Amino acid sequence: MVNLTKSQPTPKCLAAEQVKSNGSVRNCSEVRERLNADFYEKCYLCERHDIRMEIEHFIPHNGDKTLKFDWTNLFLACGHCNNAKRTQHNLLNCTNPHDDVLHWMEYCYDVENLTAKVSIHTANNDNVRALNTANLLTTIFNSTSDEGRFYAPKLRTKLAEEIYSIESVIETLLKRKQEGLSIQDDYLALEQHLSIHSPFFAFKYWFLRRHTRYNSEFQDILTKAPLHTA
Ligand SMILES: [Zn+2]
Repeated sequence: MVNLTKSQPTPKCLAAEQVKSNGSVRNCSEVRERLNADFYEKCYLCERHDIRMEIEHFIPHNGDKTLKFDWTNLFLACGHCNNAKRTQHNLLNCTNPHDDVLHWMEYCYDVENLTAKVSIHTANNDNVRALNTANLLTTIFNSTSDEGRFYAPKLRTKLAEEIYSIESVIETLLKRKQEGLSIQDDYLALEQHLSIHSPFFAFKYWFLRRHTRYNSEFQDILTKAPLHTA
């Protein structure tokens, strides 16, 4: 999960839909376009980007029209995460800059251990919203429910591919640096992995941060991440 900024102003079509008896946010093409841009076409929960997305209500509206058409309450999520979250609330809000969703939770997937589960935990157990969010994300990646048990392994495979990819970029970069070769292209590849629109950014950021050798080598880029480059 990564902090995102919701663009302003509110799409005008929302007010028009709100007054209709059968109004729906799905009828507003501008809402979908703006969410795609604001969320970098990624699910805000799992950070996967290559699947169909849904418009999700961060605070469940339960028929409340104000919440249903409130621009600040509309998020982009994949079907799997939307299902897993259902009516849960009291979670960290990635569009609130005061909720540091990247640092308040540690994102870990030990790809060397094939039986390992994804683990996401929070350093501060007094923060109930961080605890709730970490538990939800853990469920999303390790789901054994009837609905999630087919999808979660595919999600972990995609996550593992990204972690293997950044690991390979880092190893090549360090090797070439040691040999006195140009590392410009390798550094660009690393920047792409640490950019805000990169899938599973939070896991890759923590992968780099956890590995002591990498951490000391890449302290500068870690401080700047997520990078807002194209
Ligand atoms: Zn998702």
